[in-house]
Amino acid sequence: MAGAVALVLAGGMGTRMGRPKQFIELLGRPALYYTLRAFQEAPEVDRIYAVGEARRIEALASRAGIDKLAGCGRPGESRALSARNGLLLCGEGDETICLIHDGSRCLVTPQLIRRVVRAVEEGADGAIPAVPVSDTIKVVEGDRVLKTLDRSSLRAAQTPQAFRLGLLRRVFSAPEEVLGAATDDASLVERAGGEVRLVPGERTNIKLTSPEDLVLAEAILAARGRRGLRP
Ligand code: C5P
Repeated sequence: MAGAVALVLAGGMGTRMGRPKQFIELLGRPALYYTLRAFQEAPEVDRIYAVGEARRIEALASRAGIDKLAGCGRPGESRALSARNGLLLCGEGDETICLIHDGSRCLVTPQLIRRVVRAVEEGADGAIPAVPVSDTIKVVEGDRVLKTLDRSSLRAAQTPQAFRLGLLRRVFSAPEEVLGAATDDASLVERAGGEVRLVPGERTNIKLTSPEDLVLAEAILAARGRRGLRP
């Protein structure tokens, strides 16, 4: 079977972080370096496409020997519009598996990449990594609690999320207001009636969102380095 492609979204402005989080340095290297390297090292992935500042991303990739990088697209106004731009770069056929990934989840591992690819190869329309939620989640209006959700049926969705390109091309042709409201790709597939399967996520697969995440990310990278894994 033809190899999968990865679409790495790195076009956000990092509003909550105060600067574009994908280029923040962790242990002396930009966060996006670690993200790209995980896909470079995953044998299931043939090519990597990215959305974001093309010159900066291409320079980073060539310095780091990320030779799977095959193209860079322009960011859109929302995550989903960036993903839609990125999909236009992919020249592969409809059957090819595409993994859409948040560039700011720089601790993704080749093992997690393998799990989502396998689930789609086994027949799911989509596969997403997810972890149980440890906090109790409240539905609120302002500072008033409306209700408490049953935690046992809740999961936090991560990326990479894997789908066949043909399905992605269909669901991303939805109107812009639908795309603009989507905070992940699987929700568009669910909306179209597709079956999305969960695979075990990883607690370390955090998304760099606020400054304290950087401390945690560096500690995880340092621990991986101590265990003999490349940080
Ligand atoms: O904003 P959020 O945390 O959901 O962003 C997830 C990922 O999507 C980040 O890696 C960010 O760079 C990317 N993104 C993008 N274009 C946007 C907004 C976010 O590529 N307009």
